[in-house]
Amino acid sequence: CGIFAYLNYNVARERRYIMEVLFNGLRRLEYRGYDSAGIAIDADLRQGAGYGRVEAERMPPYDSLPPLVFRQEGKIESLVRSVYSDVDAMDLNLEESFPVHAGIAHTRWATHGVPAPRNSHPQSSDAWNEFLVVHNGIITNYEVLKETLVRHGFTFESETDTEVIPKLAKFVFDKAREEGEQTATFSQVVTEVMRQLEGAFALIFKSAHYPNELIACTRGSTLILGVKELTDDKVRGKLFHDVKDLTKDEKPKELFFSSDLCAIVEHTKNYLAIEDNEVVHIKDGCVSILKFDYGREKPASVQRALSV
Ligand code: GLU
Repeated sequence: CGIFAYLNYNVARERRYIMEVLFNGLRRLEYRGYDSAGIAIDADLRQGAGYGRVEAERMPPYDSLPPLVFRQEGKIESLVRSVYSDVDAMDLNLEESFPVHAGIAHTRWATHGVPAPRNSHPQSSDAWNEFLVVHNGIITNYEVLKETLVRHGFTFESETDTEVIPKLAKFVFDKAREEGEQTATFSQVVTEVMRQLEGAFALIFKSAHYPNELIACTRGSTLILGVKELTDDKVRGKLFHDVKDLTKDEKPKELFFSSDLCAIVEHTKNYLAIEDNEVVHIKDGCVSILKFDYGREKPASVQRALSV
C-alpha cells in the first residue's frame, strides 16, 4: 500500500541512519493503511558479515553480497524492533558507513494472500535475493505468468500476485545470459518485465546483480521521485539525461522514491511525479527516465525536465 526507497550516493551514511530513513518513510505512509511491512538493505561491506548462518560456498558469484530482507506482519514499530534485534543477532554493524547504499521499503495492504511474513514485501526471485520488488497495487495477469514460471522450474513461496515480478526479472536476466548476449542492463530487464505485466501498480526493484542501483516504474499508481541537493542554478531545470555530464559535486547526494509526497517533503522540495509507463533508473547518482510505449511494444527513450 506504500512503497519507499532511499539511495545515498554522494554522501556517506551509516547503516543506522539509512534504516531510520526507511522506517520514517514507512511511518509517513502509515495513514494509507497496512497489515505488514518490510525493508531490504545491503549486507556489510566486510565480506561475509551477515551471512554467518549461510554456507558461504553455496553463494553465487555476484558483484556484491546479496541484499538482506526483513519482513513482519503487523505494526511498523514491530518491524523496527525485529530488524534491530535481527541486525544484532547477525552481528551487523550499525555504525558501518556506506559511501553509496540503496534501500527499499514497503507497507502492505493485502489483496492476494493473507497478512504473513512470507506474503510481505520485498518479494524475492530466489533465496539469494537476486531481484527484490516492493509493489503497490494489483497484477491482474499474475496467474498466467505464474503458470509459465512454474513450467520453467520456479517455485513460489507466497500467495501474492507480486511474487511473479521478481521471478520474471530473474527469468529475463538468466535467459539473456544463457543466450550468450552481453548481460542485460537493469533497465532492459525491468522494461521487459513491465511489458508483460497487466494491472495497476507502482514498483521499485533492487538487485544483487546491480548493486547501488534502483529502478522504479508505475502504471496507474502514484510514484514520486525526490532529489536532494540539486539546488545549483546550473543544475536546476536541466534535463535529467544531462545529469551524467555533471561533476561529482553537482550530482545529487540523496534520492528518494515514494508513493506519497508526504514521505519526501521532509528531505527535499525537489521532486518529480513519475508518469504512467515510465521506467526510472538511478545509477551512479544519475537519473534516466525511459518511457515505455505499450502500443508499439518498444520502449522509447524520452527526456524529462526536472521541474522543481
Ligand atoms: N497486491 C499486493 C499484495 O497483496 C500489494 C498490495 C499493496 O499494495 O500493499 O501483496
